[in-house]
Amino acid sequence: MRIIIIGAGVGGCASFLFLRKYLPADNHSIKLIEAHANPLETSTIIGGGLGLAPNGLRTLSLIDEALPRKITSLGFEAPMAEFRTGPRDQFLGLYVMGRKERYGWSNLMVQRATVHECILEEAIKADAGAGDVQFGRKVASVDSTGTDRCMKVTFEDGSTEEADLVIGADGRRSTIRDFVAGKHVDGLNGIGGFVPLSYIEPYVEHTQSPLIMTWGSMGFFGFSPIGSGPATKSAERKAMWWSVYASDTPATPDSPRAPIKQQLQARFRGFEGAIPKIIDALCTGAPGVSDIIVFPRYRLPEFLERWDRPGAVLVGDAGHIALPESGQGVSFAVEDAATFAMLLKRYLEAIPDEAKAAECAGQSYSQIRKPRVEKTIIAATRNANNKRGMGPWQRWIRDWFIWIWCKLARESSGDELFAHKVEEAVDKHLTEKGY
Ligand SMILES: Cc1cc2nc3c(=O)[nH]c(=O)nc-3n(C[C@H](O)[C@H](O)[C@H](O)COP(=O)(O)OP(=O)(O)OC[C@H]3O[C@@H](n4cnc5c(N)ncnc54)[C@H](O)[C@@H]3O)c2cc1C
Repeated sequence: MRIIIIGAGVGGCASFLFLRKYLPADNHSIKLIEAHANPLETSTIIGGGLGLAPNGLRTLSLIDEALPRKITSLGFEAPMAEFRTGPRDQFLGLYVMGRKERYGWSNLMVQRATVHECILEEAIKADAGAGDVQFGRKVASVDSTGTDRCMKVTFEDGSTEEADLVIGADGRRSTIRDFVAGKHVDGLNGIGGFVPLSYIEPYVEHTQSPLIMTWGSMGFFGFSPIGSGPATKSAERKAMWWSVYASDTPATPDSPRAPIKQQLQARFRGFEGAIPKIIDALCTGAPGVSDIIVFPRYRLPEFLERWDRPGAVLVGDAGHIALPESGQGVSFAVEDAATFAMLLKRYLEAIPDEAKAAECAGQSYSQIRKPRVEKTIIAATRNANNKRGMGPWQRWIRDWFIWIWCKLARESSGDELFAHKVEEAVDKHLTEKGY
C-alpha cells in the first residue's frame, strides 16, 4: 500500500512512526511530506509553550519509551496548577493536572518546538536517508482519481503523486479538511511567549505550584516554568506565559506588537506580581524576552461528521481543533496517529483487499476517536468562555465555581482523559465488531 502523510507536525511525525512500527516495511511505502523547511536545520523556534498531558506522553512511549523521557527532560513537570483571581492575586485553589504517581507520566509544560523537534528527529532517524521524509513540498489539493480507488496528490509546484491512502496531518488550516468543512476564528485571541525564568522565580517561591493561572475581569493570564529550550537550540531556563481574551478584531501573526502590549497593560492594570513584570518587558528587546506569539484560535463551525472517507483520513488538528484549554492538542494528535496505525494493521491482517481494509480502519478510527475528542472539546469551550470579559457578579459566580470545583474535584476525575490507553480502546472496539 502506498501511504502519503501530509504535514510533518506532531500528528504527521507520529503517524509516520506508528505506521512504520505496525506495518511490515516490505509491503508498504510510507512517505511524510511537509510544506516548510526542516525546522531542525533552522534556528527559528516555531510556536509557543503548551501543556503536554500524561496520556500524550504515555502514547508516545508506545513508539519508544526514550522519546517521552527525552521530552520530559527538556520540559518542566507541573502536576498541579494554582488558580488565582483578580489584581491582588487571590488564591482560589489547587488543581491536579496529572501526577506521575497516578499515570506514569506527569503533566509537562514544554515548548511546542521541543516536542515537535524530538519527534521529528525520530522520524528522520527512522527514514535513515531513504528520502521518504520530504520538506518544502506544499500540497495544493488531493482528489480521488476514480480509478482503482487511487488518490492523486497535487503539489503547489505542479508535481503530482499517487497514493492508496492519504493521511491529512496538515493542521488547523488543513487542505484535506477543506473538502469537508469550513473554518472560522472564534473571537478569542490567544497570545503568548517566553521570558527568562528569573522573571517569575521570586513570585513562585512560596506558592504550592509554580504553574499559575489567573482569571481577571477582562481576560486570563497564565505562566509557568518550561524547562530548557528545544533540543537543538538554546538551553536557557525559561518561563512561558499565555493570555486569552475576547476581541472582535483578533490579532494576526502580522499585527503590530505595540498595540497588543498596550491592550495587555490595560487589561491587567493594577495587577501585582509576575504578570505586570512580564507584560512590561514585552517589546523592549530585553534579553531572553521573546516576541509576542499570536495564535488566532480557529474553531470548526461544527464537528465534522467523520474524519475518514475512502482513500483519506484526518489526524490531529486537521480533524478537530482542540482549544488550548483542553491541554490535549498534542496528546490527541498522537493518540489519533497511534489508533489509526493499530487499526490499519489489524484490518490489513484480517481483510485481503487493502483498500477495503483501509476503509474499515478509517471508519473504526472515526468511531473510536470522535466521542472522546469531542467531549473534551465541548468541556474546553465552556472553560474558554470563562476567559471573556465579565461584570462583578459574573466574576463572583465564576470565582466561587472555580473555588468549589478545586475543593470537590477528585483526582480520579482526570482518569478518563489521562489514563486512556489507545491499544485497549482499539482491542475493545475490534472485539465488539467481531475481529
Ligand atoms: C507554527 C505552529 C505553532 C503552534 N504553537 C502552539 C502553541 O504554542 N501552543 C499550543 O498549544 N499549540 C500550538 N500549536 C498547535 C499544536 O502544535 C497542535 O495542536 C498539535 O501539535 C497537533 O498538531 P498537528 O500535527 O495536528 O498539526 P500542526 O502541528 O499544525 O502540524 C501541521 C503540519 O502540516 C504542515 N502543512 C500544513 N499544510 C500543508 C500542506 N498543504 N502541505 C504540506 N504540509 C502542510 C504544516 O506546515 C505543519 O508542519 C502550533 C502549531 C503550529 C503549526
